[in-house]
Formats: sequence, structure tokens, C-alpha cells
Amino acid sequence: MKPRIALIAHDEKKDDMVSFAAEYLDFLRGCSLSATGTTGARLANELGLAVERKLSGPYGGDLQIGAALVEGLIDAVIFLRDPMTPQPHEPDINALVRACDVHNVACATNLSTAHLVLSQLQLVSRSSKGK
Ligand code: PGA
Repeated sequence: MKPRIALIAHDEKKDDMVSFAAEYLDFLRGCSLSATGTTGARLANELGLAVERKLSGPYGGDLQIGAALVEGLIDAVIFLRDPMTPQPHEPDINALVRACDVHNVACATNLSTAHLVLSQLQLVSRSSKGK
């Protein structure tokens, strides 16, 4: 089964998200991707990725991703948060990260962890294809 990955980036981290996704483009093309609205638009427009776009984060997109996650529909979350800027939807952000912890779903909230998570998923998916 294709890895199901959710991608979210706060405004100050969106450039990082696009560059990050560009590094894993081939792998991400073979994944089932969802994203919050603006993040998803950038990934689709700038990298040509097929992304299921939820609402924008402040309008409930994080909660939509959280809802899918608690139903077992997401394998990993790449959530590039901006720790320096207050967010109007802080409760939604916390709810999503909490849902990841409750359901033991990998959640990368910075670039270093994001690289570890995607490189590992890539490795696992390559080795399962080799079988
Ligand atoms: P966005 O949402 O991708 O729609 O900007 C991200 C967020 O702010 O949580």
C-alpha cells in the first residue's frame, strides 16, 4: 500500500516545505498525499504533486487531517511548525500533535526529523518493492 503522508507548513516554513518535498519528489509521487489548503496548493503548483487539499489550517485543515489520522488513514505527518509566531489556531495544532501521540503516528515538526521520517519511509517502501 502507498504510504499516506500529511504535509502541513506554517507560513514562515512553506518555502522549507517546498524545498524539502522537492528533495523527495520521486518518492512523494508514489505516496498518497494530503495537506492543508495553502501548503497543498504550493506543493501542487510548484512541484506538480497530486495532493488532497483540506481547508487552510486556521479554518480547520489541521483538524481535518487529525480526523483522518484518528481513523487510521494517515501513516505519517510532516508538520513544519513556526515556533516563533503565535498562531490563531494553536488549539487545533495541539489537537493534531496530540492525536499523533495518542495513535502513535510519526509526526515530524522540524526539518531534521522530517528528513529522518521520509528517508526511513522511502527505505521501507523500496525494500518492500524489492520483495
Ligand atoms: P495552510 O495551513 O497550509 O493552509 O497555510 C497550515 C497551517 O497554518 O496550519
